[in-house]
Parts: sequence; structure tokens; C-alpha cells
Amino acid sequence: MTERFEGNFTQQEPISEEAIAAAVEVMRSGRLHRYNTAPGEAGEVALLEQAFAAFTGARYCLAVASGGYAMGCALRALGVGPGARVLTNAFTLAPVPGAIAALGAEPVFVETTENLTIDLEDLTAKARAGDVLMLSHMRGHICDMDALMEIAQAHELRVIEDCAHTMGAAWAGVPSGRHGVVGCYSTQTYKHMNSGEGGLIVTDDAALAARMILLSGSYMLYERHLASPPPEAFAQLKYDTPNVSGRMDNLRAAILRPQLATLPERVARWNALYAAMEAGLADVPGVALTARPQAEAYVGSSFQFRLPGRVADEIQEIVARCAARGVELKWFGAAEPAGFTSRHDSWRYAPPQAMPRTDAVLAGLLDLRLPLTFSQADVAQIARIIRDVLTT
Ligand SMILES: *Cc1c(COP(=O)(O)O)cnc(C)c1O
Repeated sequence: MTERFEGNFTQQEPISEEAIAAAVEVMRSGRLHRYNTAPGEAGEVALLEQAFAAFTGARYCLAVASGGYAMGCALRALGVGPGARVLTNAFTLAPVPGAIAALGAEPVFVETTENLTIDLEDLTAKARAGDVLMLSHMRGHICDMDALMEIAQAHELRVIEDCAHTMGAAWAGVPSGRHGVVGCYSTQTYKHMNSGEGGLIVTDDAALAARMILLSGSYMLYERHLASPPPEAFAQLKYDTPNVSGRMDNLRAAILRPQLATLPERVARWNALYAAMEAGLADVPGVALTARPQAEAYVGSSFQFRLPGRVADEIQEIVARCAARGVELKWFGAAEPAGFTSRHDSWRYAPPQAMPRTDAVLAGLLDLRLPLTFSQADVAQIARIIRDVLTT
């Protein structure tokens, strides 16, 4: 008998009743715009920023319209503009090179290791190509951040962290997003908090924070923020910083605040699913699992494994056979971009760059989501099906 998985890889958990009640409250008030506050009222967005700053231990936090907007805002605040070159991971999601290209800047891709993190050797070799690194913790894998920051310091590289997949994660006890000068997060539906769309930015740098708040479209109302630098920080910047509207609204912030409070509990559940998948695939012949260093406290919201040595046709067949049994695998090696999965050579607005090591890794890289609507039994069944497909 061949078993078939009937679950849905893109089904999120419902928004909690507490969050729904908070959203309804905002709608009843009619005050959805972040700066539309009643006397003495802080507003949901300002309260979310304050809570997220506390959660990450950052001095300043800004909530924005999306994760992509957060990255673009951070790049612009660091002075990245037309013609600039920005180092970034060759293995990442399309909004990362997109945020660089949106500023008229050029991504300079850095190779990927078998553990799916940025290749520090290649980073060192290319460090002189630009003065900003947009570091993407793609699929939640965190490189040796101490080694990376040493390289960055030696080459005067300012690091922006793309933490779309590492909200709630840490390296050696330091929350992801707190090693670089700016950390960017996404609250888009498929990430670790769900407001449909949304983004968060953290930094300790007062001038950068002020610039990003002005960029996000603060209409000189920055004194209504709770996790912002003092008004003096805005005194000069307000004349020179364009308003590039991208604020978050009170409705989204209202459903995010209760989710932030329960994030650690969800992280534990994701990691239990991740451990079950790891155990299920541990001894399947031909499967290479991703090493997770001791210092990395990750969030196992997705799972990656490699099938080294398999050619494209074989992988395509494996993906098709798994799909026929209800198991949705994403293949990062596919020549054509599909859904959320695209490759550096599909981003043809960027100059073509030879990435032999990344290409070799992605050629055999498969990925699956682990939504919290899955049970341990679901994950065990998915692993059994993958094992069956790979061994028969
Ligand atoms: C989702 C994502 C982003 C930003 O996403 P938005 O959809 O703009 O919120 C950035 N980087 C990575 C790696 C992502 O997966």
C-alpha cells in the first residue's frame, strides 16, 4: 500500500481570538493610520515597535509595510544609491536582490556553502567590491556570525541582516538581526509572525533610526514613536530625507502584538517538527542533512536536504513522485523560476555572475515547509514517503 499525505504545506494556523479582538477594536475606533491616535493613546504600531525592540534588545525599532520595504529602507538609510554595489548571498529569495536593484544599485553575489550559509572565503575575496553587505539568513541558516563580523570589520563592511527566516533565532545567544548595524524582518504570512504583509527594522544607531523613520513616511510626527531616538536626532535629517511611504498600519500591528508574545512557544513547536523530520530522514541513503552548529538557535519553520550526485532529471522525477503522494518539495536547482523558488541566474536585471559552488549546492537542494498546522504524525508520514520515493 502506498500512503499519501493529505495535509496542506501552505496552511497557516488561524489568527488567535485575542489578536482578532484587538483588530476589531482598531476597526471600531476607525483609527487605522499609525499617526491617527486619540489624546494620550500610543497606537498599536508604536506599541508593537516598543515590544519588538525589547524582544530583540535593540534601542530602536520601526514597523513598515513589508520585509522587502524594510531592506530597501535600511539600504537607502546607509546611503546606497544608483551605481552602488551591494554584497549579498547568491542563495536567497527574490526580494533581496530586488531591494538592491530598486535603488539602482547592483547586487554582487557571494557563494553558498553546503550548510546553506554565506561562504566566508568568497566573502573575504569580494569584500572590497562594496561597503554594504545585505546578509540573508536564507531558510533560517545562520553562518558563523563572529567570523563574519570580523571579516566585516576588517573590510569596513556595514552589515544589514535579512532575518525573514530567523525572527526568534540567535547566534551564540545574540538574537538574529543584532550583529549587523540593522536587522530586517518580515511579518508576511509565510514567516514567523503573520500579518499578511509587514516588516520590522531594528538598530542601535540613532541617526540611522531617524533616517529610516523619516523615509518610512513619518510626516514630522516622529515624536509619536516609542522606540525612536529623541527629536534632536531628526533636526537636520528631516530636511534631507525623502518620504518614501511604507508605514505599517494599526490593524496589522494589532494582530502582531499578541503573536510576538507567543513567538517563543511557536519556535519550540517548529523545532519539534524539525527534529521529527531530521529523525525521519537521518539514515536515508543518499540524503545529506544540513549541519546545525551548536551556537545556532534556529527556528525550524522549513526543512532542507540535499541529494548530492543526483542529476536534474532524477531530481525532477523525485519531486514529481513525492508530489503525486501529496508531499510538496521545492527544488532550488530548477532552471526556471517557479513560485517562491528562483535562482541568481533568473535575476537578469543583475549582471551575470559565475557561482559554481552555489550552483553545485542548489542543484541537489530540496526544501519543504513545516507549517504549525502539521502534527508530529504528519511529519513522520512525510519523511516515510520521501524515504520510500528515494529507496524504491
Ligand atoms: C520573505 C522574505 C523577505 C521579505 O519578504 P516580504 O515578502 O517583502 O515581506 C526577505 N528575504 C527573504 C529571504 C524572504 O524569504
